[in-house]
Amino acid sequence: MNIILLGPPGAGKGTQAKVLAQRLNFPHISTGDLLRQNVSAGTELGKKAKDFMNKGMLVPDELVNQMLVERFKVPGCENGFILDGYPRNLSQAKALDAILKDRRTGIGLVVYLDASDSVIIQRISGRLVCSACGESFHITNMPPKIPMVCDKCKGKLYQRSDDTADTVKQRLAVYKNEVSSLIDYYQSGGILNRVSADGEAEEVLNTIVKMVQDLRRQKTAAG
Ligand code: AMP
Repeated sequence: MNIILLGPPGAGKGTQAKVLAQRLNFPHISTGDLLRQNVSAGTELGKKAKDFMNKGMLVPDELVNQMLVERFKVPGCENGFILDGYPRNLSQAKALDAILKDRRTGIGLVVYLDASDSVIIQRISGRLVCSACGESFHITNMPPKIPMVCDKCKGKLYQRSDDTADTVKQRLAVYKNEVSSLIDYYQSGGILNRVSADGEAEEVLNTIVKMVQDLRRQKTAAG
């Protein structure tokens, strides 16, 4: 089953996608992570994307769509995948449908993680990410045992360059501008499910897992 996690920056898409991917044994595909890897590796794509990302703007669709086509060529997505951070607008949603149609598959579930602005800003402004394994922490909500050191791999933690107050406001504005068309699109396809993401991560995860199990049961029953 192919799953999309939709929601504002800071709703916990990355955190949820990572755990869900492990539980379901699906790859977690985050366009933000793929872009950051390209920026730090200094690739042509990274050079083109860097300024857009630092300003909190969307990287042009054709660059992100092409990056995704390349990602799908890596074996491992055959039984399902979890997309996080993509699509960000209607044109990407349509591009994704076309890419998946070529692969004779489609999206089975879209989970819309709904979080309030105050929760988003509090989460993002304290977010810390491991430079080695990508694990996320939070200065107050989920502090690492040793300051600025990853609990899992002992890598160095850092604050993302686009997690500053001004850039977060811009990212939220971009998000709000685009999200309603995406919600309409997936709602009319009958695959959108809303989940409140203001609560604890564990609680949100359990709700999503139940959703996936129910859907699988329905599909099995329908034969
Ligand atoms: P994220 O890690 O999902 O918050 O993404 C960080 C930044 O990467 C965004 O603010 C955009 O600049 C860029 N980005 C990530 N995914 C996309 C996408 N699907 N389309 C365009 N830009 C993206």
